[in-house]
Amino acid sequence: MWDYPKNLAELESELRTEKACVQYLYRLRWPDGFVCPRCGGTKSWFTSRGLCKCANCSYQVSAKTGTIFERSRLPLSIWFRAIWWVTSTKNGASAKSLQRILGLGSYETAWTCLHKLRRAMVRPGRDRLAGAVEVDETYIGGERPGKRGRGAEGKALVLIAAQMDVKRIGRIRLRRVEDASAASLEPAVLEAVEVGSLVRTDGWNGYNSLDHLGYVHDIARKKADVGKNLLPCCNRVASLLKRWLMGTHQGAVSHEHLDYYLDEYTFRFNRRTSRSRGKLFHRLLQHAVVIEPVPYSALIKHARGPKPKHNI
Ligand SMILES: [Zn+2]
Repeated sequence: MWDYPKNLAELESELRTEKACVQYLYRLRWPDGFVCPRCGGTKSWFTSRGLCKCANCSYQVSAKTGTIFERSRLPLSIWFRAIWWVTSTKNGASAKSLQRILGLGSYETAWTCLHKLRRAMVRPGRDRLAGAVEVDETYIGGERPGKRGRGAEGKALVLIAAQMDVKRIGRIRLRRVEDASAASLEPAVLEAVEVGSLVRTDGWNGYNSLDHLGYVHDIARKKADVGKNLLPCCNRVASLLKRWLMGTHQGAVSHEHLDYYLDEYTFRFNRRTSRSRGKLFHRLLQHAVVIEPVPYSALIKHARGPKPKHNI
């Protein structure tokens, strides 16, 4: 069975119509076949409105319900093209470029679309890093490196955890933290790294209790300055992340939304060697159908500036 488009030509031929997109979405939601959420029946057919109707109890269900596509006015065919664009390009797309490429009516529509997709970039219940993991922090935003331990003006502190695989950086996790105190760093490390792993840090005292938390704590060096002089893997990740934020997004990322950009970067970095772009398309769609829908009001809750008028 055809499982995902291998290239743009296949996307255009296999997922050309809205009907084909709806049916594809059904297959992603019920990979082992339809199961009626009301009666558990497994026989169904499509209605003319693109709903799936249970043959047993006549319950009608939309494949979009409970996904990021719920209540969206954008056709699935546009969503799928947006996902293709986001996953097939090395650095992703800014809202402005997505608006232009897909011919979307407004900047807000493109922005919301990208933000909903970012929420699908973290797989619910994903596992933690394991093995040997390097951990350090960096400031995002602003020019001068900040003083550690004190919140630097206008900057966000981001914890980087990078799996040190043989000869290369493995998977990463990125998490914004309040400050560089142990109270902020420890929960972030626990969320990112499997207990029992080797965690390598510099000599910053915020990491002093990692061995009590169950990690094998390796202090690479005594000296500890944030913003400069990061441990090598984290330094590489930090500079790539900053380049991406400045390049693709031209630095226009507010602190309120930084977490979602970190999620997108993590998704990209961890799959940077994947040769099959179609697989990434498939993966992102699989995430998109299992996460809870995000209403537009929640997306812009903390956003700065004037609120766009309508949902998409
Ligand atoms: Zn039923």
